[in-house]
Amino acid sequence: MIEKREFYINGQWTAPAQGRDHQVIDPSTEEPCAVISLGGQADTDAAVAAARAALPGWMATSPAERIALVERLIEIYKTRGEDLAQAMATEMGAPIDMARTQQVGAGIGHLKNFVRAAKAFEFDRPLGDHAPNDRIIREAVGVAALITPWNWPMNQITLKVGAAAVAGCTMVLKPSEESPLDAMIFAEMMHEAGFPPGVFNLVNGDGAGVGTQLSGHPDVDMVSFTGSTRAGTAISKNAAEALKKVHLELGGKGANVIFEDADEKAVKRGVLHMMNNTGQSCNAPSRMLVQKGIYDQAVETAAEVARKVSVGNAHDEGRHIGPVVNETQWNKIQDLIQKGIDEGARLVAGGTGRPEGFNKGFFVKPTVFADVNNQMTIAREEIFGPVLAMIPFETEQDAIEIANDTPYGLTNYVQTADGERANRMARALRSGMVEMNGQSRAAGSPFGGMKQSGNGREGGVFGIEDFLEVKAVSGWTPA
Ligand code: NAD
Repeated sequence: MIEKREFYINGQWTAPAQGRDHQVIDPSTEEPCAVISLGGQADTDAAVAAARAALPGWMATSPAERIALVERLIEIYKTRGEDLAQAMATEMGAPIDMARTQQVGAGIGHLKNFVRAAKAFEFDRPLGDHAPNDRIIREAVGVAALITPWNWPMNQITLKVGAAAVAGCTMVLKPSEESPLDAMIFAEMMHEAGFPPGVFNLVNGDGAGVGTQLSGHPDVDMVSFTGSTRAGTAISKNAAEALKKVHLELGGKGANVIFEDADEKAVKRGVLHMMNNTGQSCNAPSRMLVQKGIYDQAVETAAEVARKVSVGNAHDEGRHIGPVVNETQWNKIQDLIQKGIDEGARLVAGGTGRPEGFNKGFFVKPTVFADVNNQMTIAREEIFGPVLAMIPFETEQDAIEIANDTPYGLTNYVQTADGERANRMARALRSGMVEMNGQSRAAGSPFGGMKQSGNGREGGVFGIEDFLEVKAVSGWTPA
């Protein structure tokens, strides 16, 4: 069993001042795989004090110096990919091959995008030709608390740490207590890269403890949070007292609108996208809206594709989906599948209980419901498991109304061969991102939502801007 109780504070691994032991459970086996420590107020205070003390020096470095350290981090990251993949497979159940490619790969991609964006970014520039003595300086917000979830752990950590680092913020990372192991490897990498002591700190803890202490801490200037809408609300309230900046990346209930003229792979692609990472993605296309003329065929196809999705132990190589993260999530998903049945949706694949052949591990059957209406619980709540809800629609206007009738607004998807319609849909859908015909967003495209999906934008230049203040100076003496 791995024992990793220390926190990374002020450039050193440090014994907790007020730690409580916490077992990390491997969701494939339900067995404990590691013991970590959940910190208390004294640990949070020590990490925030280190970040505060390091801030003036770090803010005074040039962007080029900060970029060089992130470039060094990227080189080290490449050598630790296997360690990160093994950690994520063990603690959150990402199947090892998928962990190596998608989970690890996402992190390195984000770091590279930040380097590229930062090299082109004007941290300091004239207001405009009309005002030669006015200067716009983009300067670090200050001490940033970074609170991350377990579902795409390295993706989330690099999105926040990479941006904060090039912006000149110092930081305290509190990773999810479900997935602390990859985060601690990441802290080792930050150390090896040579970030000055105090610039990056890591304290493990839970939401009620370190999470709340960070969001309310008088010496924290900004909270960047990814996780549930519930926690996002709690953090916003707690941070409001000191009027901290709060950047939120929350849940989603994305619609995937498939028109009659969509390409023939659209349904299959939508189902597989939904099932990826065992449905545990905030941007999962969890509501498949299908136009009437192709609806029956689409239901048949979706059921067939879902039945062929294999489920397996995260430590086994191959193309399968893993377990969901923990028992609480497993129970929540079972309840929601049962609700779907009780509320009258037509179950066409999967259902409650573990898949055949499993009597242990938090495995869920890849599940598809047809004839869902948008008022049913499975169409409204984020399930965060491999469960797809299929909803028929007639006209483009119906599709827009159904897609937008949700408290969330993260990613929506459109499948159609009609370019003009696709563009109309892109404007009409109320979400931070719209992806069409299976084309993913390019490197550096901003990730973030509207409505209850949050207000932050992560990745590339937009992600860096989230960690910067705008300072307007008059009377500047041009060089
Ligand atoms: P969660 O909100 O329970 O936990 C996320 C993090 O917040 C953890 O580190 C947790 O310890 C901490 N936390 C919990 N309550 C807190 C509180 N009151 N104060 C401070 N910190 C608190 O979410 P989760 O179950 O880990 O993650 C799943 C959720 O994250 C889903 O809803 C998913 O949609 C969302 N998510 C969103 C994005 C995005 O970018 N929009 C990306 C990934 C995940």
